Amino acid sequence: MAAPKIFITRPIPETVLIQIQAECDVDMWHTSAILPPIAEKIPPLDGLMTYGHEPVTAEMFDTSPNLKVVSVVGVGYDHVDEDAARERGITLGHTPGVLSDTTADMTWALLLAAARNVVPAYNHVQVEKQWHYYDPNILWGYDVHHSTIGIVGMGRIGYAVAKRALAFDMKVLYYKRNRRQDWEEELGIEYTDLDHLLKVSDFVTLHVPLTEETTHMIGKVEFELMKPTAILVNIARGPVVDHGALYDALRDGQIAGAALDVTEPEPINTDHPLLDLNNLIIAPHLGSATIQTRMKMATMAMENLFAGLKDERLPYGVVQPPEL
Ligand code: NAP
Repeated sequence: MAAPKIFITRPIPETVLIQIQAECDVDMWHTSAILPPIAEKIPPLDGLMTYGHEPVTAEMFDTSPNLKVVSVVGVGYDHVDEDAARERGITLGHTPGVLSDTTADMTWALLLAAARNVVPAYNHVQVEKQWHYYDPNILWGYDVHHSTIGIVGMGRIGYAVAKRALAFDMKVLYYKRNRRQDWEEELGIEYTDLDHLLKVSDFVTLHVPLTEETTHMIGKVEFELMKPTAILVNIARGPVVDHGALYDALRDGQIAGAALDVTEPEPINTDHPLLDLNNLIIAPHLGSATIQTRMKMATMAMENLFAGLKDERLPYGVVQPPEL
């Protein structure tokens, strides 16, 4: 029997690639600099592994009669048409959990950097070479310890962010649609509605999946509720925040600062006005980007891929085979 045909949309770690190559006929897109031509590659495939966020659409599925499985290297799968996959009996897998602590660490890296002016300090000393004398009156930031953090979309990653907040003696508020009283008891955190969270939080971090409901969840009205000293961290998906409203809020001092790991579009256009603001930090979607975690994600994605090719239940499945 011929080996199943697989397309991987970006280079994955070699050790995992070798294992996939042992069982499959692998075509792996060679670069991150040019977008993978998924529509062109998909027709003969049995399996697709997406390592990136290019859309995988119903129209693409319709050109690919043998496709059994889409395996996402990542937890967010908003770029794949889940309903269209289900309707066609195509399984869909992702890599939840394994990246939660790593993404929570990056949330804190961004939050602390924004609160304590780490990027302006770097620019001052190393880029502009302006550190000629000690000046006690530059680059004052905001205290993180004993402040209030509001976690929007408290699931796996939000929970890991909350645990870290406790070490900073922070008051932790959270908002999601379904309250978790067990977590409230375990961590001593408080559930609140979104408006109240935005009004009282010194730091607001976003961890919702991108859905119709969460698209532009944070916009003009929400920024108006926030404190002028507040800092927003978006490490969820770019479109969760209305970037026009964010620009206005940062420019007009409606909030003090923001840090984004994700943007709309991605990458953000190099002439986007947000890039000219000095109270904003943007990272190029690094939430899960550590050596250890990317290895684990690739391994989980491989396990989903192999299961899907055998019509078996995916170990980390979003859409399972219809009969299971
Ligand atoms: P998760 O465990 O599913 O948590 C998501 C949380 O969001 C859930 O608790 C859910 O609770 C809540 N939620 C969903 N819709 C909501 C809504 N309309 N309003 C309020 N809360 C809502 O997912 P996770 O593993 O923590 O990952 C979260 C997201 O982070 C992913 O989907 C992905 O897009 C993003 N992410 C980004 C990076 C990065 O590199 N920047 C890395 C990993 C993940 P309820 O259902 O009770 O509302």
